Amino acid sequence: MQVYLDHNATTPVDPQVLEAMLPYYQGKYGNASTLYALGREARIAIDDARERVAELIHAQPAEIYFTSGGTESDNTALKGVAFANWERGNHIITSQIEHSAVLDTCRYLEKQGFEVTYLPVDRFGKVHPEQVLKALTARTILISIMHANNEIGTIQPIEEIGVIARERGIYFHTDTVQTFGKLPIDVKRMKIDLLSISAHKIYGPKGIGALYIRKGVNIDPLLHGGEQERKRRAGTENVPAIVGFGKAVELAKKHMKAEAQHLTKLRNQLFEGLQSRVDGITLNGHPVDRLPGTLNISVKYVKGEALLLQLDKQGIYISTGSACASGSIEPSHVLLALGMSEQEARNSIRFSLGRENTEEDIAYVLNVFPEVVRKLRGISVLA
Ligand SMILES: *Cc1c(COP(=O)(O)O)cnc(C)c1O
Repeated sequence: MQVYLDHNATTPVDPQVLEAMLPYYQGKYGNASTLYALGREARIAIDDARERVAELIHAQPAEIYFTSGGTESDNTALKGVAFANWERGNHIITSQIEHSAVLDTCRYLEKQGFEVTYLPVDRFGKVHPEQVLKALTARTILISIMHANNEIGTIQPIEEIGVIARERGIYFHTDTVQTFGKLPIDVKRMKIDLLSISAHKIYGPKGIGALYIRKGVNIDPLLHGGEQERKRRAGTENVPAIVGFGKAVELAKKHMKAEAQHLTKLRNQLFEGLQSRVDGITLNGHPVDRLPGTLNISVKYVKGEALLLQLDKQGIYISTGSACASGSIEPSHVLLALGMSEQEARNSIRFSLGRENTEEDIAYVLNVFPEVVRKLRGISVLA
């Protein structure tokens, strides 16, 4: 049996998405910048996908720019705003638990002379709007806070932070890679100026995403060259991927509500089942304000990596938050920011459920997991 529980890392491409893409690799290969029929066909397909993306976040199609994914969107938002607005100020506010695409970009901007405040979070992973207020300076030009965290699933008070930014004329960027297509997003109500999304987290292809840039936002492009994407993202459009992205958005919109309920139910079954079968399991992240399919836990006395490898042998695919940096395994920066010790952080794993998971999948994990933990704990006691 094979049970894939790592949907926050990536998702399988939906068969309907692949089907929609294939014609654009075969007969419909035109360059969208050309004027003959083949090119016009590609242009229409791109604009159709753009409309779908825009609709799901209540934006205008002209405010959607296709990129190569979440990482490029985050880079463009942060560097683009920083370099276009440095005369107004050099201060950026973000949080300690952002994705590395935001954190590493901020560290780069620090080297370029910008100042960055990395806000702390509470033990559930929440950023408190009062902390944002406290961090503001006269030179703050940008606030970047993710909608939901990829490791623990905690959902942030985006609208409250958006209001703080808008009232002061500070740009507000949010990484919604984990929430787009899963939770309702309204850029107007939430006062969002820039927003990053990625297709491969919602059953679309890898290497395609988008950045929403509110009309009127002053931003430099990351890539220079052709006039694609209204001169904000040069390079011939990846038409098949954009078409697949559009199809994935259509499917996400159609199933969003039912899927959230389905995933919440399975996730709770998994957590309650694990807790009743294995001692020393604790939840990481917010108990309620959390992504429907995300379950991050610590398992006392067991290393996350050891669990991952043992579950892999049984066909169960999960992840640990830790990154392998230069040969040594570093505990997750997100879990450390919650106030966990390095030990507790190393004892953690993440399950992230998705569309194709079933109750049978959960039953299989609940069947396998206790024995795996028993074995590993036996070893760790002896060692
Ligand atoms: C996956 C992810 C990204 C990166 O997106 P890519 O399309 O893989 O570059 C950025 N932010 C978050 C929160 C993510 O989960």
